[in-house]
Formats: sequence, structure tokens, C-alpha cells
Amino acid sequence: MTTLALKYRPRILSDLVGQTASVKALTNALTRAKTSGAIHHQAFLFAGVRGTGKTSTARILARALNCTEGPTHMPCDNCDPCHASEQPDRNMDIVEIDAASRASVEDARALREQVQTRPAFCRYRVYIIDEVHMLSRQAFDALLKILEEPPPHAIFILATTELQDVPDTIKSRVQIFPFRLIPVGLIEARLQYVCDSEGVTTEAGSLRLVAEAGQGSMRDALTTLDRVISAGDGKVLESLVREQLGIVPAMRVKGVLESLLSGDTTSILDHCEALASLGADWANFWKELMLAFRDHLESGTRSGLQTHEILRLSRMMSFLIQRERDLRDSSLPQVVIELALLTAAQLPNLAPLDALVRGGAPSATQPVPPPRHQPPQQNLRYPSPPPQHLPPPPVVQPSLPPQTPANHKDKHIKSEEELIAQEPNLQRLLKDTEAEITGIHNETK
Ligand SMILES: [Zn+2]
Repeated sequence: MTTLALKYRPRILSDLVGQTASVKALTNALTRAKTSGAIHHQAFLFAGVRGTGKTSTARILARALNCTEGPTHMPCDNCDPCHASEQPDRNMDIVEIDAASRASVEDARALREQVQTRPAFCRYRVYIIDEVHMLSRQAFDALLKILEEPPPHAIFILATTELQDVPDTIKSRVQIFPFRLIPVGLIEARLQYVCDSEGVTTEAGSLRLVAEAGQGSMRDALTTLDRVISAGDGKVLESLVREQLGIVPAMRVKGVLESLLSGDTTSILDHCEALASLGADWANFWKELMLAFRDHLESGTRSGLQTHEILRLSRMMSFLIQRERDLRDSSLPQVVIELALLTAAQLPNLAPLDALVRGGAPSATQPVPPPRHQPPQQNLRYPSPPPQHLPPPPVVQPSLPPQTPANHKDKHIKSEEELIAQEPNLQRLLKDTEAEITGIHNETK
């Protein structure tokens, strides 16, 4: 079975998506070569992350150089060299070398002898060395000697994902072409083209998710598309894509966002429970939620939301974004997320800590808005014991000095400190929360 990644592999330079600068430079080089009858440079280095088209481009370039009508950026597709380039395994004039498995000194020596051999029937013999950074130092030395004085019939196309690991001596002998991560919009458009060509129906928004999962790699996106088409029995449905990719259902993300914005803490916990039962990938959920929050903020701003409301949303989002590091560091992602969401939902209702320390109550200059919609709260996971099991209220001993708000507060803080002493993340969270709250009150003064 032919995979989509193979079937829709780019065949000419203009098929390459998202590599405009490199495509343009190579096209110009081939155009000049057609005029002069020979390519000016004999060594190229394609550098960039995996799945961005380096090996495909190397094969396209080999074909473009060897076409009987070439060198040309538009090979004829009819001549023997063009046909032969479709089967690089059987084409003696296109030599593909995986540096990871051919890194020894003996391999390098063999290559030095091999490059002296003239092409079998093409204009050039093209050596494509993949993952070139994997070569040993001796192998690099041998390669350098070849690149210093290449025979006129030899072309070298090196590819690497780790440009920094390629010696400078090699880099100075080659033309370097960067291969960048492909923007998600371009991947989505290509996926749509593939689906249209294959007669596959797609649901709105579904291909965007597949494109995002590709993380800048067209090959990965096409492989994922193969998978979701199989799962959807020839259709690409958003719910199936989410299920296949472990992305939480859109209505859950929307639900959490709405609960957060309305300050409905019980609903936040309900949604988190439901996500846990779905086996949600919490990092993935967090990313989705932040993107949804961002979209909400953008649409609010564009539709003329009042300044103080924009400010409130920005503060809330800023607070949440900063929780991402806690999520990365924690072995309890659900707890971190619940804590962050509950705190964020309460941000507008909280008084600054310094006001509490000063007077035990908010001051007149820093009014605290009345609590927002607050349904009765209960801990779903660990329900509170019935009231009769609660310890009796503390009795103030007559021998103790009369309690002032200040020393009452000191006692309160001391016990809190004891509780959070073993939780550095929590300490940081509280500190940041305090800063956020102070910020909000200063802004609204
Ligand atoms: Zn041709």
C-alpha cells in the first residue's frame, strides 16, 4: 500500500511547501546552469529539522541536474535519467548514503575511490549523504579532501538535522540551504489538496488539528492524515481526529473556559474530573485551553470590549500562562491545573495580601467586588465529613492576651507556611498570585 506521504512526495521544486527561499535559490542556480551548461556549485548542504523536505529536495535536484533537457528546474519526466531517478535504489548515478551506518574510515576511503568513477549514463553522479553530522572525524577529513577537488562529474548533496555538529571546514566548502519548519496554514492547505485529490470528505477544523500535530513536518502530518482517514473509514471527522491524537473534546475546552470566565469553580472541577476520566493528556489540554483563551481575548478586543474587562482577561491569562512551568515540573498535572484554574477564577474577587496583613480586611481605597456567581462548593473527590465530626471550635483561654487582627494574622500565616514549606511550586504559585492580585488592584484604583 502506498502511503500518502510517499504518493504526495514533492517531485519538482515548486511542489515543495514552505521552503520559499531555498526553492528560489535552487531554481536560480539551475536556470544559470542551463545557460552555461554546467552547475556552478558541486556541493550542497540542506540543514533543518526532520520532515521538512531535505531528502526529497536532494532527489529533485539530482533529477533536475541529470534530465537530458537539463540542468533544468523543470525536468521533462520522459527521458531515461528522469525515469531512473524514480528508482534511486536501482540508479547507479544516484548514490544515497546514510552517514549513521557508513561513518567508518574504511567507508570514507571507499567513497574517495568511488567518486573517481564516471557516471554510468547520466550527466552527473550525485551523492546524497543523509545525516552527515554522524560521520566520524576521519570520515569528515576524507570528505573534505573530496570536496576540495571534486571530479567535474560528481555532485554532493549533504543533509543534516544538526548543522552545529558539521565541521566548519565542511561548511565552508558547501552551499548551505536552510529548511524551516513548515507553517501550519501551509500544511493544512496541502492536506486539503490531498484529501480533495483522494475524494476524502473533511469536517471543518479537522485538518487544522492534523496539521498542528505535524509540528512543522509535512511528512508527519501526511502520516497522521493516513491514520485518521483509516480510522474514519474514508472521512476526516473532527471528533475522530481528536480521539486518535489524544486531543481533548472541543466542548470540554469550551466548557472549562466558560466556567473560568464566569468564576464557576464547581463547574471547573466537574470538567477536570470528566477530563481525568477520559484519560486526557493534560499538557495537550492546557495548550488547547490557552489557545481558546487567546482567541476569546482577541475576539473580545476586536469587538470593543471595555478596557477594564480586557485588562481583567489579560491578567488572568498572564497568570495561567505562567503556570505552564509548574505543569512541566509536576508529577500531578491534574492538581496543578485545578489549582491554577481555581485561583485564576477567583483573581477578580481576591483582596491584595498586603491589605489583609494591614487590617485583616480590604481598605476603602481598594474595594473588593462582591463575590461573583458562586454555587455551593463541595470537594467532589474527597467529600467533607458530616458537621458532627468536625473538631470543636477553638476556645480562647482567658490567660492569653486579647487577640488583635495583627497577631491573629501572624498565627494564620505561620500555619500556612508550615503547610506549604515542602511545596516549592506552591510557594512560587502563591507569590505570583500575590503579585497578580496587587497588580489588578493597582490597575483598578
Ligand atoms: Zn528528463
